[in-house]
Amino acid sequence: MTGPDAAEPLFTPELLDRCISCGFCLPACPTYALTQEEASSPRGRITLMRAVQTGQLPLADPDVSEQSSFCLGCRACEVVCPAGVQYGALLEQWRDAGWRGTGWWGSRRPLRLRALLFVAGRRRVIAALGRLRRAARTPDRPGSDQLLLGCFERLLYPRVSRSAVAVLPGVGATPSAGCCGALHAHNGALELGRAMARRLGAALPGTIVTTSGGCAAHLAEVLGRDRVVDASERLAGELDALPAGRLTTGDRPLRVALQDSCHLRNGLGVSGQPRAVLARIADYVEVAGADRCCGAAGTYSLLRPADSRRILAGKLDALEAANVDVVAVVNPGCLRQLRDGLRARRSPIRVMHLVELVAAAHDAAYDPGYGR
Ligand code: SF4
Ligand code: SF4
Repeated sequence: MTGPDAAEPLFTPELLDRCISCGFCLPACPTYALTQEEASSPRGRITLMRAVQTGQLPLADPDVSEQSSFCLGCRACEVVCPAGVQYGALLEQWRDAGWRGTGWWGSRRPLRLRALLFVAGRRRVIAALGRLRRAARTPDRPGSDQLLLGCFERLLYPRVSRSAVAVLPGVGATPSAGCCGALHAHNGALELGRAMARRLGAALPGTIVTTSGGCAAHLAEVLGRDRVVDASERLAGELDALPAGRLTTGDRPLRVALQDSCHLRNGLGVSGQPRAVLARIADYVEVAGADRCCGAAGTYSLLRPADSRRILAGKLDALEAANVDVVAVVNPGCLRQLRDGLRARRSPIRVMHLVELVAAAHDAAYDPGYGR
């Protein structure tokens, strides 16, 4: 694949032109922190995009392909950018262009990624497997707002889905609603991902309540911010209904840290709400780097496991140094990433989704077996 046709730019020119090359984003970028190389910084990647846009570099250039893949898509660069560069949108266009025309099953996507995207797109398969895993005890519960039961969350972490149903009593649950398409949009199938979000929006009219930052940000982008609310936002709006200081271990309050969801924090500006919920029900501990990507980054840990572990390592050090009992997450990908990393270290720190902790607080019983 070579440079683009001038009549059909790969990148939206107004998005690409917005960068003023100031470099304010460099300290925020986890991949730049690893390499200290300009090419793996947001500014360096935008320079590569511009070279592709003008035909100076082919899209298939090894450095271009490598940097498109090496980027976490965490969007930490967006929130510090004084020029309002929408880096996440540019990255979606980059990956979409990189894989466009290469076919689906015959594409260069790794087999595991193709299988993941294929399964996520099969609504009935996900719903059937979710029922086997008892993801929601109350199928098709009516409500004015609807809970999105995440595809992989209900298969891999059904207790998260069950906890969400339990702690959001006024919210309906429809296990057969389908996939939001975030994974597709972030992995080079932009239009398919958007179409899936629109289909889900039609299947779940009204406000969609999410337990995954990645799903929330994608749905908000396609359907509008007013259609989406994260569970942490909903819970923070009803703080008085949560049992204060309820989570304990032994004779002391449970020490709980948070791992932000990149897309929830950097895409939707939701970061204070989960902290407020945790501070209400436990002893909240702010750990340095909580706002930095954990390396899960959607499919990143599957596609680039070594880099993903390098990103994660410093975060695990900080959590262990802070001597916390539990790390709360607001995204199932972070749950898997942190749990795997801490298990590998034989750390006693547990990892739980925020809604699991809220459910435990209502039960007044923190089970030290949680999060194993
Ligand atoms: S992306 Fe934003 S912060 Fe980074 S170099 Fe461009 S204008 Fe500056
Ligand atoms: S999305 Fe994250 S990894 Fe990618 S350039 Fe921005 S800050 Fe760096």
